[in-house]
Amino acid sequence: MIDTPTHGGCGPTNPVDTVVRGACPHDCPDTCALLTTVHNGVALRVQGNPAHRHTDGALCTKVSRYTERSYHPERILQPLKRTGPKGSGQFAPVGWDEALDDIAARLKAIAARDPQAILPYSYAGTMGLVQSEGMAARFFHQLGASHLERTICAAAGGEGLVTTLGAKVGMKVEFFAEAQLIVIWGSNSIASNLHFWRLAQQAKRDGARLVCIDPRRSETADKCHEHIALRPGTDAALALALMHELITHDWLDHDYIAQHTLGWDALRERAQQWPPERAAEACGIPVQQITDLARAYGTTKPAAIRLNYGMQRVRGGGNAVRAIACLPALVGAWRHRAGGLLLSASGHFPVQRGALHRPDLLAGRQPRTINMITIGDDLLRDSSPAFGPKIEALIVYNSNPVAVAPESGQVVKGFEREDLFTVVLEHFQTDTADHADYILPATTQLEHWDVHASYGHTDVLLNRPAIEPLGQARSNTDIFRALAARLGFDDPCFSDSDETLCRTAFGDQVDFQTLLDQGFATLPLPDAPFAQGGFPTPSSRCTFFNAGLAAMGLDGLPDHLPNFETPGSSARYPLAMISPPARNFLNSSFVNVKSLRDIEGEPVLELHAADASARGIQSGQVVRVFNDRGEYVCKAEVSKRARPGVVNGLGIWWRKLGLAGTNVNQLTSQRLTDLGRGPVFYDCLVEVEPAASPT
Ligand code: SF4
Repeated sequence: MIDTPTHGGCGPTNPVDTVVRGACPHDCPDTCALLTTVHNGVALRVQGNPAHRHTDGALCTKVSRYTERSYHPERILQPLKRTGPKGSGQFAPVGWDEALDDIAARLKAIAARDPQAILPYSYAGTMGLVQSEGMAARFFHQLGASHLERTICAAAGGEGLVTTLGAKVGMKVEFFAEAQLIVIWGSNSIASNLHFWRLAQQAKRDGARLVCIDPRRSETADKCHEHIALRPGTDAALALALMHELITHDWLDHDYIAQHTLGWDALRERAQQWPPERAAEACGIPVQQITDLARAYGTTKPAAIRLNYGMQRVRGGGNAVRAIACLPALVGAWRHRAGGLLLSASGHFPVQRGALHRPDLLAGRQPRTINMITIGDDLLRDSSPAFGPKIEALIVYNSNPVAVAPESGQVVKGFEREDLFTVVLEHFQTDTADHADYILPATTQLEHWDVHASYGHTDVLLNRPAIEPLGQARSNTDIFRALAARLGFDDPCFSDSDETLCRTAFGDQVDFQTLLDQGFATLPLPDAPFAQGGFPTPSSRCTFFNAGLAAMGLDGLPDHLPNFETPGSSARYPLAMISPPARNFLNSSFVNVKSLRDIEGEPVLELHAADASARGIQSGQVVRVFNDRGEYVCKAEVSKRARPGVVNGLGIWWRKLGLAGTNVNQLTSQRLTDLGRGPVFYDCLVEVEPAASPT
């Protein structure tokens, strides 16, 4: 289970040390290959694997501290049972058998009435295919529990890609280094896509122009040649105006359009409704920024767009991605390996989900589906014919919904229900774990097997356990196996080992021996996958007009859909708020790693000087940020990173580690995007005022 000792290229290593190959489990497009140095069963350090070209020997600051996280003194290392009121965070140790017996009995009793009253709640606390849904999906399928729509991050943009390109596919990340123009759209790459940023830097050194499109003047925007600080939720307007200019100046690849696209006449008509002046008004940017970008995009080859998910967390997020995803086909950028677009590469991976998740265990049952975005409202619903049974039990793993789900005032109310039976599989006592009936100690990535696809590159990675589980921690798979046995689930699939699950994830589509030998395997993809069309759409063409959407009564063409909460539409809440990740946190992970939290300091709201002075606010002052959904107390930072009219609430702090027991999601709404039923975290109006410091 442990690699043979390896000493090449990973820093000073004793002869008795072992270096184990692994993969970063976090929700990050880079999916780095790890090398963990182990001495006498103790992980000494985690480094990037220099043999993996995408990792290139370097990790971000967060995961460089992974041993600090795994050996954290507050790590939960034994099962805990609630002893105080819901949400009090009061627990006492309990044995595994007692905990599992009780949990199984409770679930069995609920399932006998209606298994749909049981809801799994999970997301990307680990991106590993095995420890995320490998055994959990089998367990909940056999049980007949409610399905969870896992939409909290990427659903709108994913749907935008699928309806345009046919799948979540794009250009190969390594070739960004050869582009002459890179448009970094909705991404603070330095903070959240570090290894792409290295490629962009290489291109910049070789003469490429870098343009950053982001409402916030991020660290990445600082280092690009140009920053376009548009209003949140106006990206589709900008994309349509770019099309308008490409048409006006005939910067089009007519041959590529004729051969490899569908619906050009209709799209041309739509784009002609968006002259730059109209888009400039919607986006709150100068006309010239639009015309200059259009000229650069229309005349520079190869041109590449690195799109990321921040921009699709608004009402029209799906349409915005559709509009942007049309651009490369218009200029024939896909012809070049360094041209095109990358939002996600995950659709390139041949994951064998049927074999891994075993939906056949449902045996014809069709449980209802709950969207993870609306968990706040849904936990508070009674049984009804429309909703189905009231949610009686919640099994949370790889997620911290009390901190990360929108409108957290509602989420907390739901989790505080004394009649809700909540089990949380966790490393730490998070805001969510505080509300559990049982907390079950889960292993970290250093302690278990897993296998990983990526959404930022096209390599499969294997994660081997480097150390034995700490304390009494057990892997997610092991916990669901144990529960399955107690519930009498006797299908042989519930006995599959983690290594078997790793092999099942890709079946014979990826050579497992290669994964064992080198820790990663590269998918055999062409360098320019859509140079000759061949998109994974029914027509093999890039779909400008989507007849399937039109048949559902939706717009067959991409369009700009204004935010639900448009700046200027509310006198009480005049400021738009976005909540991008703080640089040293990854969603709500790492907030409790003191060295990283010390770098971040305290929860911060960035405001433009004009907005701050209009409210008598100065940097360092404690402010109250509020709307009808609630209030959040944090420190103001008057900053050039905020554009006028937009405030940046950096996230995602644990509520209990903030200034007054809330975080930025107290303010966000549970409304859903145009496509994909995703969240609208960045479609949120607020007001800000000075507050007294909390006592
Ligand atoms: S969080 Fe991202 S950059 Fe950091 S180690 Fe993991 S995959 Fe690499």
